[in-house]
Order: sequence, then C-alpha cells, then structure tokens
Amino acid sequence: MKTNLVIDAEETFFDYEQVARVLDYPREARLPVQEPTTITITSVAEMQQWSRLQKAAGRRIAFVPTMGFLHQGHLSLLEEGRENADLLVLSIFVNPTQFGVGEDYEDYPRDLAADTALAEKAGVNVIFAPSASQMYPAGYASRVDVEGITDLLCGASRPGHFKGVTTVVSKLFNIVQPDLAYFGTKDFQQLAVIRRMVLDLNMPVEIVGMPIVREADGLAMSSRNSYLTFEERRQALVLSKAIAQSRQMVAQGVFDSEKILAEVKAQIENCHKARIDYLKICHQLSLQEQDQVDQDSVLLLAVYIGKTRLIDNGFLLA
Ligand code: AMP
Repeated sequence: MKTNLVIDAEETFFDYEQVARVLDYPREARLPVQEPTTITITSVAEMQQWSRLQKAAGRRIAFVPTMGFLHQGHLSLLEEGRENADLLVLSIFVNPTQFGVGEDYEDYPRDLAADTALAEKAGVNVIFAPSASQMYPAGYASRVDVEGITDLLCGASRPGHFKGVTTVVSKLFNIVQPDLAYFGTKDFQQLAVIRRMVLDLNMPVEIVGMPIVREADGLAMSSRNSYLTFEERRQALVLSKAIAQSRQMVAQGVFDSEKILAEVKAQIENCHKARIDYLKICHQLSLQEQDQVDQDSVLLLAVYIGKTRLIDNGFLLA
C-alpha cells in the first residue's frame, strides 16, 4: 500500500530508489525532477504513445503546432505554453495539403537543426516532426472541413487551404492529445476557423490565441519574410502602416469603412512592389465585412510584395 511521502528539501542524501522501492513506484517516478530535455519524435505511433503515458500520469500537455523555421512569434507561443502546462510539445510539419498548386510548398524555409536549438532553449519536451508519408500514408482519404468562414479572405484567395489546415490540426490534436493549444492572431482567420472546428466537433482542447509579434519597425514576424529582398523588406512595411493609418483615421472620427479602405488602398498602391490580394474591415467573430467601424472591427489584409504573399491584421478601435 502507498503512503504519503514528505520530501525534505534540505535532505541532501535522499535515496529516491530506496523510497520508490518501499512505496512500489514505477521506475520513472523514482528519478529526481530534472531540467526538461528535448526529444524529437518522428513517428505518429510513438508520439501518441508518449502523450497517452503522460496523460495517464495526470500531466497536462500544451501544444504549439508550426511549420518550423522558428522566429520570435513562435517562441512567444512556446513561452506561454511552458508556463501553463506540465509538458510542452512543438510540432514542425510543412503540411502539403494546405498549399495550393503553384504555391511555395517546395520552397518553404526549413531548418530543423536551428529549430531544435531554439526549442531546447524554450523548454520544449517533445518536437514532433513527422514526414509527409507518416501523416498521409498510402490510401489516406479523409478531410475535415469547416464551412462558411473558410470561403472568405484567405479562403477565397487560396481555395482548399483551410481544409488542409483543419485536417492537419485535427490529426495533430488526435496524435498529441493536448489540453491546451496555442495559435497566433497573426493568422486571424485560421484562429477563427480552428475555434469553430473545436467547438463544432467537441474536441477536448482549449484554444489560446496569442498577440502578433512584430519586428522593431512594425513588420509582423513570419517565416516567409525570409523570401524578401532588401528592397522588398522595406516595402513590406506597407502592411503594418495600413493598420496604423486606418487606426489613425478612426481615432480622428472616420468610421466609414469605404472611406478608410480607399485611403489605405491608395497608400499601398504607391509602393511599386506591392499588390493587394485583399483589404477588408470585418467583424472579429463572423469575419463578415462591416460598413461602419465599431469595437469588433478588424482590418485584415493580404498583400503580395514581389512574389511573397504577406498577411497582417489589427483591431481598429480596441
Ligand atoms: P506557422 O509556422 O507560420 O504555421 O505558424 C505557427 C503558429 O505561429 C501559428 O499559430 C501562427 O499564427 C503563429 N505565428 C506566426 N507568426 C506569428 C507572429 N508574428 N506572432 C505571433 N504568432 C505567430
């Protein structure tokens, strides 16, 4: 029979093995608590097994899904996850099903060695880095689809994109079995779609949205910023400036969306390397366009800078 064990922090010669034998603890529970070390798992079955064991031991898992090439934005999600759960899992998977034909799947930046070093520093317990064939083996035929809000904005420009996202995130949730999962508001629509999916499909995970992390000059951090040439990097500031400009107009009493969007559009079009994909003022929850700005209004934009498609967003009144 197990009895309560009081561990004296001052006791330097504490024999964990002996106490564990007496109390009949499993071997892993006999070891002193150690600094977290990062392991990398590439197999779906092993990841699932690891999570099952941890959860059976009553540990809470925080999860940050990414496509890797980590930057400070990803690290802010990891930091929050580290603080709010017992264990932290990071997935690195460039998901082929969320890229359209002619998009940058092949070119997407990858650097597992650098990501591993950053993950270690961030206190990640497990990096889950499966291959595409692990995630989509021969015969794979299922998709998860959220209707409605996936037809707008990025969904309109990138048909099928969100079906790829919801499918892979559902799979990752089933594999990692997290209690908490962290997403950036940088991908504002993606976060709304994931929240909808989790609610609709009763997934037992809490979704946490995190603020956009920006470079000192305002550019939202993104793995895709690495595509930009020196001149493009300079012109990429049109996105964050568009948000600042529209906020300023609202602060001066302009609430008419059409008026705001016309001025911002003209400003963006002044940059010869910038081409607007979409520029809209939408309600933060429905993502429907709004004629008048209110507390729920978000400016959402996608702009090509040269060949690189960048997105950004910001609340206009909050
Ligand atoms: P990605 O690797 O681009 O798929 O992004 C993985 C997660 O990091 C997503 O939830 C993103 O929204 C989030 N993320 C990406 N960039 C940023 C950023 N600049 N600030 C905060 N979160 C971000």
